[in-house]
Amino acid sequence: MKIYAFEAREDETEYFNELSRLPGIDLELHSEGLTMDMIPKLSPGSGVSILGMYNYRKPELDLMKKSGIVYLSTRTIGYNHIDVSYAKKIGIHVCNAQYDPHGVADYTIMMILLCLRNYKQALWRTQVNDYSLGGLIGRELKDLTVGIIGTGQIGSTVIKELSGFGCRTLAYSRRKNPGIEDLAEYVPLEKLYAESDIISLHTPLTDETHHMINADTLSKMKKGVVLINCARGALTDVKALISGIESEHIGALGLDCMEYEEDIVHRDLKTDIFANRDMAYLRQFKNVIHTQHMAFYTDSAVKSMVHCGVHGLVEMSLKKNCATQLC
Ligand code: NAD
Repeated sequence: MKIYAFEAREDETEYFNELSRLPGIDLELHSEGLTMDMIPKLSPGSGVSILGMYNYRKPELDLMKKSGIVYLSTRTIGYNHIDVSYAKKIGIHVCNAQYDPHGVADYTIMMILLCLRNYKQALWRTQVNDYSLGGLIGRELKDLTVGIIGTGQIGSTVIKELSGFGCRTLAYSRRKNPGIEDLAEYVPLEKLYAESDIISLHTPLTDETHHMINADTLSKMKKGVVLINCARGALTDVKALISGIESEHIGALGLDCMEYEEDIVHRDLKTDIFANRDMAYLRQFKNVIHTQHMAFYTDSAVKSMVHCGVHGLVEMSLKKNCATQLC
């Protein structure tokens, strides 16, 4: 099967090369994203693998179908960049990736600890030989309540990891996960908002979860709440986060993703004009930690993402059971 992999990064090459030696796989790697002008140039009947920085809605999917492309894999867990229901309607088969949730869960715990110990300020200070303690007093997880929203693969792993810290853990999710009921108390969302010192988001981005953290929901949270988002930027309304930090209602933010990050993350923009005002403003606060959407980024996860991306296309084309098939 001819497979085009778009948005291919250098660190994925080793794994793609391993797979390209398998019989029947003809891989072509492109570092750029798949755009409308390139779709008609793809060989009909081939499979396409993408990452998450470009959107594939009706126009892109219609053009793919017209060009004979009916197998699409995203090498990401999140698939909010693909209109899966429209793909299904026009007969395009789509799969996503799965990988061990520990990488993102570990990163989430790191974000919580960095926020609780004012680590951003501590790091800044030591860079200029300022070893003072003023304003750096932290809090201990054992004294706090953590609220986890979304208890699927990643959220439930965060809960398991948190169980070693001695905190009280509350959970809210569309579906209860029996694997964590001994470690966390499922509560209504309003109670989680009202009682949590730290809230961490682990739901997919959907119409329902878009801007679930907004001015109204923030007003239901404790003053000084620490918010962690290692899921998708648009789960939070960036303007509401800015107001929450300015008013000090939010005590700290640990953000691995931010709304409108798509043209920014995973790129070196040092010498460019940085035109995302909200991101530039929000990230400069002493209590806002912002990273480049890298919670997933471990050797083991990248290998799995590439394997899912390629094997998923082959399995779907052979009508075999593809564990990550979405439609
Ligand atoms: P999952 O499907 O295993 O779990 C998602 C959970 O969210 C499920 O328990 C589901 O019941 C719950 N949920 C769905 N809609 C909900 C709603 N409206 N309200 C409450 N709960 C709801 O997914 P996962 O593997 O745990 O990943 C979660 C998300 O993390 C992904 O969708 C992806 O966007 C994001 N992610 C980010 C990174 C990163 O590098 N920052 C890496 C991997 C995944």
